[in-house]
Amino acid sequence: MAELKCGAKNCTYNEDNYCCKGDIMVGGKHAGKSADTCCESFVERKGDKANYISSISHPSKVISIDCEAEKCMYNKNYKCVAEHVDIKGCNACDSKETVCATFVEK
Ligand code: SF4
Repeated sequence: MAELKCGAKNCTYNEDNYCCKGDIMVGGKHAGKSADTCCESFVERKGDKANYISSISHPSKVISIDCEAEKCMYNKNYKCVAEHVDIKGCNACDSKETVCATFVEK
């Protein structure tokens, strides 16, 4: 489980830079750098934030991360073992506009 901070404010699951989804999937099977990764769990927020958030879950500091970026040094059997992970994408409207900024090639 990693401590996750997320800058993708337009995501349905984002509340104060924490994720309400409970677990996420990071994409980028062939990623050789951070820019080739993305948060596949990103869902662009539609409509009223408050109502939507309360219907999902609560923001969590620690989260389970499944990850496809097998070239990352923190990837162990498609699970992230980093202590802290930063997802970036402050203007993202699509998962492809997010990145895992913690990615480090082995
Ligand atoms: S730090 Fe590496 S293993 Fe963890 S989510 Fe990011 S790309 Fe995947």
